[in-house]
Amino acid sequence: MSHKVFDVIIVGGGPSGASCAIKLADANLKVALLEKALFPRDKTCGDALSVDVVNQVKILSPVLEQQFAEMSNKIASYGVKIVAPNQKHVDIPFIHKGNKSFGYISPRLDFDNLLFQHAKALPTIDTFENCTVTKVATNSSGVTVDTNLGSFSAKLVIGADGAHSVVQKHLGDIQVEKDHYCAGLRVYYENVASFHEENFIELHYFNEILPGYLWVFPLAGNKANVGIGVLSSVVSKHKLNLKDVLQKLINNHPHLKERFKDARPLETVKGYGLPLGSKKRNISGERFLLTGDAAALIDPFTGEGIANAIRSGRVAADHAIRCFEQQQFSAAFNKAYDKEIYRRMWGELKISRLLQQLVRYPWAFNFAVKRAQESKYIQQFLIDALSNIEKKKKILFKPGFYLSMLFR
Ligand SMILES: Cc1cc2nc3c(=O)[nH]c(=O)nc-3n(C[C@H](O)[C@H](O)[C@H](O)COP(=O)(O)OP(=O)(O)OC[C@H]3O[C@@H](n4cnc5c(N)ncnc54)[C@H](O)[C@@H]3O)c2cc1C
Repeated sequence: MSHKVFDVIIVGGGPSGASCAIKLADANLKVALLEKALFPRDKTCGDALSVDVVNQVKILSPVLEQQFAEMSNKIASYGVKIVAPNQKHVDIPFIHKGNKSFGYISPRLDFDNLLFQHAKALPTIDTFENCTVTKVATNSSGVTVDTNLGSFSAKLVIGADGAHSVVQKHLGDIQVEKDHYCAGLRVYYENVASFHEENFIELHYFNEILPGYLWVFPLAGNKANVGIGVLSSVVSKHKLNLKDVLQKLINNHPHLKERFKDARPLETVKGYGLPLGSKKRNISGERFLLTGDAAALIDPFTGEGIANAIRSGRVAADHAIRCFEQQQFSAAFNKAYDKEIYRRMWGELKISRLLQQLVRYPWAFNFAVKRAQESKYIQQFLIDALSNIEKKKKILFKPGFYLSMLFR
């Protein structure tokens, strides 16, 4: 079997790995990107690309931004519909600085392929597809990575290999904790009826799965991404069979069954884990950094992880460059990476954890949606909260906000 030598090995070519590679392309380092799939590949996901994802793509590269603008299999979504357990709902448009704003819904097959192919086309990145990493080990002089295509060695390895990261398993210490981990299912459908005219994404909350939700997201070509995400602790506590729960809600729930009357699933149910960023973890160590899902950076309230995956890929690339400039690869030196990730992300992750805790109680959820229907002040808060993290922080951590829920 062959042995190849690089400066940096990135394991995983999803959004975090591809972004990291793109950022490292001009660093004058020998970079290998190892990916077990052959792109384009599917990724079980809700396919919602938030405004933040679009911004991250823009920051990564103007060429990529242009390619994303030209990518055809996507539709713009101008807001979110939240349906409370008592079936009352509130529509919240995306508004930024007074103007209408929008995210997209696009199958990950297409979106991830765009990022991956961009990275693959860069002359300074060596890409290996159909390359499954089976073992990772560090020693004082470097790191060795075993794969089905032979072994690789480098000074630094970046684990961008998702929720079931092999790099994390071999080098890290993150454990699956059921209160910080979510189980997710997805089924593509066609012909689901009655979407909002501006393609609002829909989050449907039900007592038995709180704080999780069932989603129905419109896609181009009369298709829809339908799924369910539930905390693993809730799945265990209520001994839920999520496939059954999803099917029963679609078939029987008064709000959904009419809309799915003529709908047809396009695949069997697919499932995958969501490591939530509701708690700080060690995301680096001697000669390794973890990014995206491998570092558990998914928003615990919304389940969104693509933006943080790209963001962490960028931050990891910057840190890797510093490692080589200073010839420092120690766990102590790499702690600066953890610090920088949480400096950028913890504020929002912490708020999302708080929101996740608040919506565990059906009465609180029903009440909040009722107040949002009645009160312009609460509606405005929700609009601001979706577009402005600083406002969300200021309001949610102010006791006066909770009083205003009652009286304004
Ligand atoms: C059901 C569900 C719904 C979701 N919905 C949304 C949503 O609507 N919006 C959103 O923003 N986020 C959503 N997420 C979260 C989002 O999918 C992840 O946060 C995002 O994919 C993380 O990107 P990543 O690059 O870290 O990992 P991944 O996208 O998982 O990429 C990891 C890559 O590593 C490769 N790999 C894995 N193991 C190996 C190995 N041993 N050797 C080589 N390569 C390997 C994989 O093939 C893959 O290409 C959802 C997740 C789930 C499960």
